[in-house]
Amino acid sequence: MIKHKIQEKCIVCNGKETEDINLPKYPITEIFLETSKNHDEKQFFEDQIYQFCVKCNHAYLKKILDIRYVYQNYWTTTSASAGAINCLENFSKFINSNTNFENFSSFIDIGGNDSTFFKLYNLKDTKLINIDPNASGPENVILIKSFFDDMDLIEFKNDSKIICSSHTIEHLEDPNDLISKISAAMKDDDQCFLQFPSIEKQIEYLRFDQITHQHLNLFSLKSISLILKKYGLNIKNFEYDESLYGTLRVFCKKSSEAKQLSFVNIDKEIFKNAYEDFYNYYGKLNDTLSNLQIDFSGFGAGLMVPTLAYNLPFIKNLDFIFEENTEKFNKKFPNINAQIVSIDNMKKNSNIIITSVSTKISNRNIYNKLSKLGIKNIINPILIN
Ligand SMILES: [Zn+2]
Repeated sequence: MIKHKIQEKCIVCNGKETEDINLPKYPITEIFLETSKNHDEKQFFEDQIYQFCVKCNHAYLKKILDIRYVYQNYWTTTSASAGAINCLENFSKFINSNTNFENFSSFIDIGGNDSTFFKLYNLKDTKLINIDPNASGPENVILIKSFFDDMDLIEFKNDSKIICSSHTIEHLEDPNDLISKISAAMKDDDQCFLQFPSIEKQIEYLRFDQITHQHLNLFSLKSISLILKKYGLNIKNFEYDESLYGTLRVFCKKSSEAKQLSFVNIDKEIFKNAYEDFYNYYGKLNDTLSNLQIDFSGFGAGLMVPTLAYNLPFIKNLDFIFEENTEKFNKKFPNINAQIVSIDNMKKNSNIIITSVSTKISNRNIYNKLSKLGIKNIINPILIN
């Protein structure tokens, strides 16, 4: 068993009444194994429970795996993914429509990764600061390589600033710590923008295939506003973006205003029924594909193939998964037979099942590409929103 901690109660409201999804032997994603070596593949699976807090509609993992283990191979660079860039572009539009940059001297990105987000901006008089354990980027960006636990924002207290953070809080064991630090460093006129995967959209589009051991917390509009409120931050604006799995973005400020957003509460039955629909969809599809007597190969060795295969075990017995990223060639996922090979090996008249796709646009591009290559049957089992 991998070293882990147990999350006993909701980190937002301390509630203990939850609706649970049991995920026995759930795969750890972002693991690519050399096909030329032998591996003990059992070590890449761990029992997990996905819990939905009935009181505040926050979803969280019961088991928090040791981060050194989960992030042993770091594959996620923002600039590598078109869907991730599009989501950042939409984040910047949201910020721009709520901000006058002339009023601010500093712009801080927490979890800015390779500074892809700051590359979208051309701000001459604003200090750009990227705080991330893997921070990298161009010369005009100040890089602070720090884990979020050790991060100190107080040195920026006197700056007039915008603080933003994209797809970071869902990875944190205790988002309370980050939000309290952000709040402590903010002045009344400072602005904070966050974006993260939304539990509402996960339920609406049945995207339970996106559950990973890395996403410890999935916020709802209700749970994010409650946790912000604990630290004196109020949501001034928010929007949902359905283009990449379903993102929620919020704009908040320090304020003593009592004005509260009104929330639509998500009943636990809605959560439970959505998961059942998801589970039944993949179960029936798996039976159908298994009975077809057609030889399929996969297309796309994205990070989430193991969770797709968890729900659609048919994927495990493919011979090949075709891929364009040369770094993944001649590798495989734990417990999935398929060898990852170059798209150049794809034969005309073969049958393809799409094993990885993040957005509607990339889905259309894949169909176009495969059609031009003369592929006979193309099936996409993934419920893209
Ligand atoms: Zn709660």
